[in-house]
Amino acid sequence: MKLLIPSAGMPVSFPNIVKGLLVSLNQPINTFESAMKVYTNKKYCYFTNSGITAFYIILKAIRNISEKTEVIIPAYTCPSLVIAIRKAGLKPVLCDISLKTFNMDIQSINTYTQENTLCIAPAHTFGLPIDMEAIINIAQKKSLLVVENATSSLGTTIHQRPTGTFGDVGFYSFDQEKNFSTLSGGCIITDREDIAKFIETECASLPQPGLISKLNITARLFALAFAAYPVFYTVFYNLTPKLKNTTLHADFHSFAYTKFQAGIGYTLFKHAFELFNKRFDHGIFLSDMLSGIKGIKIPELHPYAVPVFNQFPILFDNKNMKETFLKRINDTGIKIVLPYHNPIHRMYDLGYDLYEDPFPNATYFSRRLLLIPTHPMMNIEKLSKIVSIIKTGLEDDLNDKLMYPSQL
Ligand SMILES: *Cc1c(COP(=O)(O)O)cnc(C)c1O
Repeated sequence: MKLLIPSAGMPVSFPNIVKGLLVSLNQPINTFESAMKVYTNKKYCYFTNSGITAFYIILKAIRNISEKTEVIIPAYTCPSLVIAIRKAGLKPVLCDISLKTFNMDIQSINTYTQENTLCIAPAHTFGLPIDMEAIINIAQKKSLLVVENATSSLGTTIHQRPTGTFGDVGFYSFDQEKNFSTLSGGCIITDREDIAKFIETECASLPQPGLISKLNITARLFALAFAAYPVFYTVFYNLTPKLKNTTLHADFHSFAYTKFQAGIGYTLFKHAFELFNKRFDHGIFLSDMLSGIKGIKIPELHPYAVPVFNQFPILFDNKNMKETFLKRINDTGIKIVLPYHNPIHRMYDLGYDLYEDPFPNATYFSRRLLLIPTHPMMNIEKLSKIVSIIKTGLEDDLNDKLMYPSQL
């Protein structure tokens, strides 16, 4: 039996689960809260059941301090952001992404911020830091708020300052696929007392998860710990039905973060930097090995940043290649999941004219993107295997085209 490597690998070991349980029994939730406050150097910190709930609560809070209604998000991002914006009674407005940085295009943000813009919600996609200085400049000039989406970039720094801490408010996710996970969870940080006041009220009114939810979280945390062992993961993978990531959710549930998860978060966070360093090393290795290769684009890295890669993104010039490589890499036992094949404006009707695509880069991007795992269960040997699959595959493709130019 070939052992499989999962697409998201957050090693939550059994000793850590037990330690986390003990912490949660003996100490209140604020132990993890203090750790996050120290890490981010922020005055206020709140937890929720997910990143999307965190975003929703922030939006509801800032509605109290402004009458404006538009929220700017990238045209290629996590689709549930749209649901959170609408649920908060606000309007999602998209901006295009850059094919150089793979993040929101600064010029496009400038274009789409108007009198009615409430906030820009920049995301550090795949852990790659977006230029926060440029965004804060726009926000200051136009008197807008910045809600910094650091859900996939916990650990990434710019000028040694953690992503999530640059905006008026920032938020993180502790979901399974993120850089640091307690299975699920979200965290909000800010220094702004006027906003914190409303966030605090919203968080305090979140219902506690029911007994079934709590048992479910506990069982899944144990499953996550098992999944850190390839043998168990392989067995589970073969037993469980494959859920495709393609169903769009219409709503999300909001409830309080559990004490058990906060205990695990506190216990694991002490080791978070080892995990972040591995992700950084893996991403930099891929970036070095794949730079300058014909047929693909990889992101330009921010010169003053240390990116904790959540995944390593590759864009194939030829969009038919993405599925081919997905299959070839999955065949080696390293599981990669296909990211969304569509940008936001093609998933939801937000009133845009699709014939004259207003966000062509986001469309181009979504059709050609493949994500290589950088999590701590990967290693240089496995990454080298992926690099060689990509290099030889692209050379073969190029040779085919030289031999059969009519196919071009
Ligand atoms: C994961 C993610 C979210 C949502 O976080 P959850 O904890 O899964 O709700 C939001 N935005 C981006 C960019 C993400 O990557």
